Amino acid sequence: MKEKIQMTTPLVEMDGDEMTRILWKMIKDELILPYVDLKTEYYDLGLPRRDETRDQITIDSAEATKRLGVAVKCATITPNHQRMDEYKLHEMWKSPNGTIRSILDGTVFRTPITIPSIKPAVKSWEKPITIARHAYGDVYKSVEIRAKGPGVAKLIFDGEGGEHEEVVVHNFKGAGVLQAMHNTDKSIRSFAHSCFKFALDTNQSVWFSTKDTISKKYDAQFKIIFYEVFEEYKQEFEKRGLEFFYTLIDDAVARVIRSNGGYIWACKNYDGDVMSDMVSTAFGSLAMMTSVLVSPDGKYEYEAAHGTVTRHYYKYLKGEETSTNPMATIFAWTGALRKRGELDSLPRLSAFADALEAACFDTLNAGICTKDLVNLMEGITPTAVTSAGFIAAIRERLEAKMS
Ligand code: NAP
Ligand code: MG
Repeated sequence: MKEKIQMTTPLVEMDGDEMTRILWKMIKDELILPYVDLKTEYYDLGLPRRDETRDQITIDSAEATKRLGVAVKCATITPNHQRMDEYKLHEMWKSPNGTIRSILDGTVFRTPITIPSIKPAVKSWEKPITIARHAYGDVYKSVEIRAKGPGVAKLIFDGEGGEHEEVVVHNFKGAGVLQAMHNTDKSIRSFAHSCFKFALDTNQSVWFSTKDTISKKYDAQFKIIFYEVFEEYKQEFEKRGLEFFYTLIDDAVARVIRSNGGYIWACKNYDGDVMSDMVSTAFGSLAMMTSVLVSPDGKYEYEAAHGTVTRHYYKYLKGEETSTNPMATIFAWTGALRKRGELDSLPRLSAFADALEAACFDTLNAGICTKDLVNLMEGITPTAVTSAGFIAAIRERLEAKMS
């Protein structure tokens, strides 16, 4: 056995809840700790600990990510009324992902893990498509009024400097509805920086789409800011033969369907919400979708896109062995370890991340998989195994690569 791979800067480790918390430990014990002298700053974001600390632990973990630069996060429960009772919570704590995102001011990039035996629903897609969703404002922070009868609706801006702007939205002749939404230059600019940074990180082009032909001030401002920010990245993009491509959202949708994939599609908040569900479903399984939060100043938080897989956890609690897919959680770890390796100039650490991913692909390509993938695989006879069995099969292949 070779000497364990050394690290210099610790990763921020954010533990989580339910089935993914069980997988978390299995992944660490079986696939990482035997090979890496793992250094982490550990934050338990499991719901009991969040409640005990009045959610301070979530804030601390985000601050640690700002300080150390790279985090890996397990899926966590976002409490609702039912969880309040189940965990006897003091408060309905906010979504940890929301809290971390607002502290890091980051953008979420979702990328599917693809394998030859799982064909995307769209035949032309040969490479993964990464969706970058702007996670601030628009309809998600809008205000609305139900106009119950005739009247006039106005949009008013009173500037602190005394300027006053007023436009009539509509002269209602009868009942109707109205909505006002906003965004900020600051948030749009952060979004653009995160997109171009992540594009250079992953060596991919950026597509960006809005509806600026119709929305001549609102969406147009997104377009203006993206072009402005791109100036800072243009040279590097040109050097690498990458492109920043702007088009209308409807044209983008048509082009995405005809494309071969292999780029980042930056979307406004609503478009990203809708399109990410379409793209992830078309690529196969939520269990194979990775997610990384990238801040405009280059801090990274890696995680799986799926939740804590509650249904499987309740089976696990009854003593059943589950066949929960650990792929996206393993790739959160490899993403974080590889990034740490790059930032700290530790090529052995990055190479380990590559080897672990390769071991995962070798396992799946041999047809060994969790239950969720069985019906998706083509041209291969799949063998469904438990999570533990799947991780053991990966370990065997990793061991061969590392010896
Ligand atoms: P979920 O945990 O993603 O699971 C929904 C269903 O998708 C599962 O029941 C399972 O289907 C399938 N699935 C998801 N991941 C899988 C995997 N790795 N392997 C196999 N099957 C998988 O979503 P949810 O049930 O709506 O949410 C559960 C909890 O997770 C909630 O408390 C929610 O707040 C939280 N959540 C957290 C995050 C996050 O931390 N990023 C994201 C989303 C949700 P079958 O049951 O049919 O096998
Ligand atoms: Mg959605």
